[in-house]
Amino acid sequence: MTNAIRRAFAAGTRDSTGRPGRNYWQLRTDYTINARLDVATSRIHGTETIVLQNRSRDSLISVGLRLDANIFLPIVPLAAPWAPAEITDGMVITKMTVNGQTVALAAPSGPPQAGAPATPRVIGLNSTNARIQLPAAIAAGGRATIEIEWNHKLAGGPGANHRMTQRWADTLYQPTQWYPRVSVYDDLRGWDPELYLGPSEFYNNFGRFDVNIDVPAGWIVSGTGVLQNPEQVLTPTARERLARVLQTDSVTVIVGPDEAGPGRSTANGDRLKWHFVADSVNDFAWATAKQFVWKATRATIPGRGAIPIHMVHLPGRAAPFANAGPIARHALEFYSKLWFPYQFPQFTMQDGPSAGMEYPMVINSNQGAADHEAAHQWWPMVVSNNETWYGWMDEGFDQYMNILSAADTRGTPPTAMLNGQGQSYGRMSGSETEAPMMWNANYGGSGYGFQTYSKTPLMLSMLGGIVGDTAVWDAHRAWANAWLFKHPSPWDYMFFMSNYLKRDLGWFWNYWLFTTESVDGSIRNVATTGARTAVTVRQDGQMPSPVVLRVEFAAQGAPIRAMTNSRMENATTAIVTFPVDVWFNGSKTFVANLNFGGRAITKITLDPFGRFPDRDITDNIWPKPAATTPAR
Ligand SMILES: [Zn+2]
Repeated sequence: MTNAIRRAFAAGTRDSTGRPGRNYWQLRTDYTINARLDVATSRIHGTETIVLQNRSRDSLISVGLRLDANIFLPIVPLAAPWAPAEITDGMVITKMTVNGQTVALAAPSGPPQAGAPATPRVIGLNSTNARIQLPAAIAAGGRATIEIEWNHKLAGGPGANHRMTQRWADTLYQPTQWYPRVSVYDDLRGWDPELYLGPSEFYNNFGRFDVNIDVPAGWIVSGTGVLQNPEQVLTPTARERLARVLQTDSVTVIVGPDEAGPGRSTANGDRLKWHFVADSVNDFAWATAKQFVWKATRATIPGRGAIPIHMVHLPGRAAPFANAGPIARHALEFYSKLWFPYQFPQFTMQDGPSAGMEYPMVINSNQGAADHEAAHQWWPMVVSNNETWYGWMDEGFDQYMNILSAADTRGTPPTAMLNGQGQSYGRMSGSETEAPMMWNANYGGSGYGFQTYSKTPLMLSMLGGIVGDTAVWDAHRAWANAWLFKHPSPWDYMFFMSNYLKRDLGWFWNYWLFTTESVDGSIRNVATTGARTAVTVRQDGQMPSPVVLRVEFAAQGAPIRAMTNSRMENATTAIVTFPVDVWFNGSKTFVANLNFGGRAITKITLDPFGRFPDRDITDNIWPKPAATTPAR
């Protein structure tokens, strides 16, 4: 436990049940945004009003402001060479007020002054993480209204697939991280101190978004939330087609490739304002194109009914969307049953250069990443983990559920697909490029992908090897339901899972999350005397694991009598398990005493399901397989 989580426990905002503490709080931020896209310059001009509700126990003398578009400035630090897509003038702020008081935008000259300024000022406007300093604090339980006028250029290529590549020339735009937003202030670190460096993702407050987007007529806009004014921006034909979407699983064309331009793809006019509202979301993203084909189908959410799935793509790009509807439907329905029902009123897939990124109700993806990005609607869109720091609770949980979804699609038992995953980590453990999962992923460097995406499924494969996969799903589901629309920390997860599973899993979380250690088990000796067989198991790794042995018997002989810690896999195969505690006395060897009644044992395999990250699995079998003659 770090000092941050110890303080949270002491304050009662979190505790060792793993549920939100009795004093849990989080900020709320409600946004009203008016944005205008100028296609000739690829700039968005926006005005926004943010109502910040300070539900913390602290009075806030400053407000953190995330200006992600400043990643396009030539002067900001970047953690990856492939971001950003283009050098621009960043997020240009032309006016800002707090509670009606003008905020000084020019950096104060001279050395930094201590104490509160006489009038509001903002520092760090050339950074992705700025700070408004206030003359009077926002009291605990109080609120503030922040108004900002801003504009910036949406960056184009190069930078294929990255979320910050936000347009194809001047014909398609995917504005994301596109408006100044208030940082998270939480009980662990106060104002989120992280810069936006490119690879690591986001950490945002929940609130309501009321957004007007002004684009040329003929340009279809998709986005987070529910369109409020279809009669003003859509054609009667499109509205009529939309009205039928929820009646069928088949795909309905709302605007076809031959319907382009004002009066055909949209309502007539020069420019149109698209009005969207979203309640209880932690971000807002949208897309627009000179000519979008718009298709829709439905998903049927258990307990909630049918919702529309929208797809918008360029006319020449129908192929990567051909299966997108059914894949998204399966994902939304499957994950709803696995964890909790999909929480939003619609789901949209948007075409464009950013191809593999998630926002509330919206993914920038075709069918390629549809399952993975849809899974993000559970985390971080509802269970809002700090993705920047703990990417494993975002991408890692996502990758784990993708395995379960794939098993469901293929009709394969999910447990079979999880076998071998945990063991695979043993082959890569020990790389000096790998940071422990609890290390801030924003500084993950070359190991970012492994730390955030790949390792979590391996960890949860091992957990399933200890408590059973269905127990892992039950515990994870209960944890998720305890944190809907909240910000759980890793400790909340660890404590919740241990409590729910009624196991002291401190050792497990310690090794997987705080170290890069692994198991190194082997069968050293097998000695049989009468009905008893002593199997000497050695463990040379730093991570302990239960001792799981598959014992195979001769076809005939004395009756096989089960042991209390065994189960029969079939008539001549037993699985016997000794708990992890056998290593806790510090010994590197453990003698597993078997007594199955005297039937001859023909083969013993350590970790037969491949759940534990073993550095070398060739020494896990008795008798040793006959050596093959080396090739000359
Ligand atoms: Zn992801």
